[in-house]
Amino acid sequence: MTKKIAILGSTGSIGTQALEVIDEHPDLFEAYALTAHNNAELLIQQAIKHNPEMVVIANEKKYEQVKEALKHLPIKVYAGSEAISQIVEAGPIDIVLTAMVGYSGLKPTIHAIKAGKAIALANKETLVVAGELIMNMAIEYRTPILPVDSEHSAIFQCISGEPNPIEKIILTASGGPFRNFSLEELKHVTKAQALKHPNWEMGAKITIDSASMMNKGFEVIEGKWLFDLQPEQIDVVVHPQSIIHSMVQFQDGGIKAQMGEPDMKLPIRYAFSYPYRLHAPNAPRMDFTQTTQLTFEQPDLKRFRNLQFAFEAMRTGGNMPCILNAANEIVVDAFLHEKIGFLQMSDIIEKVMEKGEFIAKPSYEDYVGTDAAIRQLTKELILN
Ligand code: NDP
Ligand code: MG
Repeated sequence: MTKKIAILGSTGSIGTQALEVIDEHPDLFEAYALTAHNNAELLIQQAIKHNPEMVVIANEKKYEQVKEALKHLPIKVYAGSEAISQIVEAGPIDIVLTAMVGYSGLKPTIHAIKAGKAIALANKETLVVAGELIMNMAIEYRTPILPVDSEHSAIFQCISGEPNPIEKIILTASGGPFRNFSLEELKHVTKAQALKHPNWEMGAKITIDSASMMNKGFEVIEGKWLFDLQPEQIDVVVHPQSIIHSMVQFQDGGIKAQMGEPDMKLPIRYAFSYPYRLHAPNAPRMDFTQTTQLTFEQPDLKRFRNLQFAFEAMRTGGNMPCILNAANEIVVDAFLHEKIGFLQMSDIIEKVMEKGEFIAKPSYEDYVGTDAAIRQLTKELILN
């Protein structure tokens, strides 16, 4: 019996690597559903190669193109964002890999949980926006949430089989391409510079988030929900080599770390095969004659204010992390369109967090409302 996997965002960085993992183990895994937003060409290629039961192209304008290209194959073709939330409920699906970007991952994840599917969670924004709601729902519907983010997978690997409670987790951060930049230098950083990450090849949005350290801030919030922690149980340490992917400290002071060459296929594989590890002869092996130093430093919250904002949003709770996420999606998009500078992203987020309407106990509808209102507010602040 193969595990049938739906990949939401199959044309992205995580999605394409997930298909490679499926290719490595055709005896274990099968791509049952693939979804993309705009990249119809790649979705068509993937569908022809993997022969899934169904595909979805979120951009409805591309429906005809995909439908026409796949008409000779027994593949169902759907279009639109709503269709993504529908197809995850298909009976045979075992695992839904959420590898879309941003807030768009929330609704399909909720549908998948309610349909009892295991979630391999790459889309961290889902937990940033609505962590409490998602984790409660996962308990109610008894669906595992298996982390794909490398840090959270590292923690998950450290606590696997471990009967003891976590004293704290220590998330490692590469520090990104601007780790040693002064505030003055950060002011003039270009889009091209920000899109070059020293250790990881990723989609554009998360690459900018990594450069601004919002990614690490989001991972702090993601960690709180995944591992049911209090804010003071989460530390961040900058570790430029990205060899230690994160650590767990136990109550006797002992620390476990998970390490290896940076390679997202390992956490993807682990989420698909948990609790087992798969034979991966082609996966990179550490060479300690080449890596001779592991170094650590404290994150600088004055230069990378986003990390501070994320800690604040987590402590405030309610819809504040949702406000943070919506503001961030808009400012990152504005930065990628060269409408604002690198440091302006944090300046605007700070204002939005002050002005956004706070809701202490948000419902799902409140999150939807907050997201829409904050996007609008952020756009207005960018124009003024
Ligand atoms: P990419 O930008 O490379 O890929 C995103 C995928 O989602 C693409 O298939 C894209 O479609 C699709 N997509 C984007 N927006 C929408 C939308 N509104 N509706 C439907 N589909 C959409 O991103 P990554 O793979 O880098 O990241 C995916 C998620 O995983 C993010 O949440 C990120 O934070 C997280 N993550 C990524 C890591 C990495 O190494 N890349 C590491 C840890 C976490 P198309 O291309 O067709 O337009
Ligand atoms: Mg990560």
